Amino acid sequence: ATETEAIDKECLVRVALRIRPQNSRELIDMCRVCTSITPGEQQIVLGSDKAFTFDYVYGMNSNQCDIYNECVGRLVDGTLHGYNATVLAYGQTGSGKTYTMGTGFDNASDDYQLGIIPRAIRHIFAGIDSLRFENNAIDSVTNSQFSVAVQFIELYNEDVVDLLDPFNKNTSFKIHENENGQITVAGATVKPIHEPQEALTFLQQGALARTTASTKMNDLSSRSHAVFTLFVRRKHIFEPKIQNSDCQFETLTSKFHFVDLAGSERLKRTLATGERAREGISINCGLLALGNCISALGDRSKKVSHVPYRDSKLTRLLQDSLGGNSQTLMIACISPSDRDFMETLNTLKYANRAR
Ligand code: ADP
Ligand code: MG
Repeated sequence: ATETEAIDKECLVRVALRIRPQNSRELIDMCRVCTSITPGEQQIVLGSDKAFTFDYVYGMNSNQCDIYNECVGRLVDGTLHGYNATVLAYGQTGSGKTYTMGTGFDNASDDYQLGIIPRAIRHIFAGIDSLRFENNAIDSVTNSQFSVAVQFIELYNEDVVDLLDPFNKNTSFKIHENENGQITVAGATVKPIHEPQEALTFLQQGALARTTASTKMNDLSSRSHAVFTLFVRRKHIFEPKIQNSDCQFETLTSKFHFVDLAGSERLKRTLATGERAREGISINCGLLALGNCISALGDRSKKVSHVPYRDSKLTRLLQDSLGGNSQTLMIACISPSDRDFMETLNTLKYANRAR
């Protein structure tokens, strides 16, 4: 793919919807399936009449490989050509965000089950191998030197936790913007990576370190946003075939954020109180700000010029990778069961605003 194919400027934000299969608890409780997919269209119907159309719709039998190839692969190709990208998983706790993204530490067992991040890591390194040396120009030889690094942080209560150095409690991480508009997290660990396995090991370490606390809905319910980032730097060298001419360099840098968002369930449903309530409010602030940013970016008709990135740490962190020259994919994850009907409706409405 060429650079122009890799980025489609007409469509900055795409939305995929994924319905997970019913789990054994729901089967034992004889929950009904209240979602259906309209054949031949990227449309989901909730209940009998609530229809929503997205860029991609995946039913209960979808697989990890198809989602990666159809929705994410080309964003990774863009990263190799200097474009930023962000993939976000949104949905209530238990809807399949972590499974889809691959941010769990236990789900790397078999290849078929692998989520988006491990697939993207492999893809990046395979892409680097094929791009390292291109001898297709008539008058010059071009080759590229790549360097890759990873970062894995968590946003919790508007605080940053470094998942690659979780015991570093002293640092107060600051989100910085440099003169070129590039966002960095000062103090967060960035590990250079030379082969896929190294990145996978950091992914697993960070996933283990991820702080979780119990709520009444789900013991492992995570109320934080986990952000795994791949940084790619490409030094492109043009060597003219004519003797005594100088080499030319071009350096492209890009990053790919993989965001496993906090559960979208409303505060009152978790019966949260006290400290929990404070966390809940602050998490909703990130999700709310994200919804506002994505909806402003997706709004092609009204030409909204202001994108409210500064309203939360989450959107501030993602600022240089949402909109502009970046590609964004939101994967809305839902349960098929009738008892989650209201939460599913909320997720569909949230995701619908992004279009
Ligand atoms: P979340 O991160 O949104 O809280 P999880 O990703 O942890 O949800 O998913 C909850 C459970 O459902 C996990 O046990 C997970 O393995 C399983 N699950 C989620 N989506 C799927 C799917 N598409 N296929 C099979 N199992 C899934
Ligand atoms: Mg999760």
